[in-house]
Amino acid sequence: MKLHEYQSKDVLARFGVPVPGGRVASDAETARAIASEFGGRVVVKAQVLMGGRGKAGGVKLFEDADAAAVFTQELIGKRLVSIQNPAGMVVEQVLVAEQIAIAEEYYVSVLLDRAAAKNVVMLSAKGGMDIEEVAATEPDAIVRIHIDPAFGLCDYELREAVQRAKIPAPAQRQMVEMIKKLAKAFVETDAELIEINPCAWTPEGKLIAADAKVSIDDNALFRHKAFQATADDSAEDPIEAEAARRGIAYVRLGGDIGIIGNGAGLVMCSLDEVNAAGGRPANFLDVGGGAQAERVHQCVELILMDPNVKGLLINIFGGITRADEVAKGLLTAFETVDPNLPVVARIEGTAAEEGKAMLDGSRIVPASSMREAAAKIVELAYA
Ligand code: GDP
Ligand code: MN
Repeated sequence: MKLHEYQSKDVLARFGVPVPGGRVASDAETARAIASEFGGRVVVKAQVLMGGRGKAGGVKLFEDADAAAVFTQELIGKRLVSIQNPAGMVVEQVLVAEQIAIAEEYYVSVLLDRAAAKNVVMLSAKGGMDIEEVAATEPDAIVRIHIDPAFGLCDYELREAVQRAKIPAPAQRQMVEMIKKLAKAFVETDAELIEINPCAWTPEGKLIAADAKVSIDDNALFRHKAFQATADDSAEDPIEAEAARRGIAYVRLGGDIGIIGNGAGLVMCSLDEVNAAGGRPANFLDVGGGAQAERVHQCVELILMDPNVKGLLINIFGGITRADEVAKGLLTAFETVDPNLPVVARIEGTAAEEGKAMLDGSRIVPASSMREAAAKIVELAYA
């Protein structure tokens, strides 16, 4: 789950990371009031979960509160488009932050290096710009420090790494402290990414996180109730957001054949089969093991929220999941939501006979294999 910049900065501040003062606003008046607290010298930043906001026109510096308010008015409701996110995102809130003078911009992040099976700190004196570009053109400008899971980071290795990254001498001590705090925050918040770009060095000699990106591992959200409460606005797609609230693994794919399966592998096979049959899958949805009727019902509802869906394919292989529970869920789902579109179900495994018998005489078309089910739903949906 990605946190907004202002949320990320709040989290990091709790770990002692220096961040500029500021608050969020969703209207011009609030923005003016916050800007006035800083004497009008502020930066107004769109709070959208995408990179490259600066280039997209979502970050601007101001010298007076009125101008900051006017810009806030312009930004709210506007769709920002960047190279990283061509579809764009609508701005609902801005961060009005104390404007800091920046002499130099560095890059620092903490993430998991899966290949090394260790957390890793990435550090560069070339901050402020797109780090992928730095990685492509000047790979040596990025220094990696792997974090030993047993011993953590030692001061001497951090001092050495900071020098190797060519962080200027006066900033080195603060950078070492910054990295230690970020590494601690990374573990304690169950983050999968913490990225500070730019990490600003001010003319007064202070290192401060001018931007912050924190992403929390979804599987650890149960340990972080405060983040979980804001989960709804973290997903970029409203149906994905609703799925997250319901705790359902759903990814929107843009096609028009809705798919429900149990187990990620089976769902992926279903996507392949629909594709091979000439259809376009609308989503990935894993109803999970041991699915109960109510959950199946919720999954059907979720898929039908997508107005593009023309047909629904159900592919269940009962193991722990009982096919009769799935059938019950499907029947109640179609009692409450009547989508008036074709539905094909392939149900095998535990209690399959009972399940199929329950669907007899309903509008749900049975299929005896996954391939047949895919062909049938494509034929019916595009008829
Ligand atoms: P991003 O484009 O989405 O990564 O947004 P950033 O928060 O990184 O802002 C983009 C750029 O705006 C930064 O690289 C800085 O150069 C500049 N910027 C942001 N905040 C400040 C600030 O407080 N003072 C100054 N001088 N520049 C800032
Ligand atoms: Mn940035």
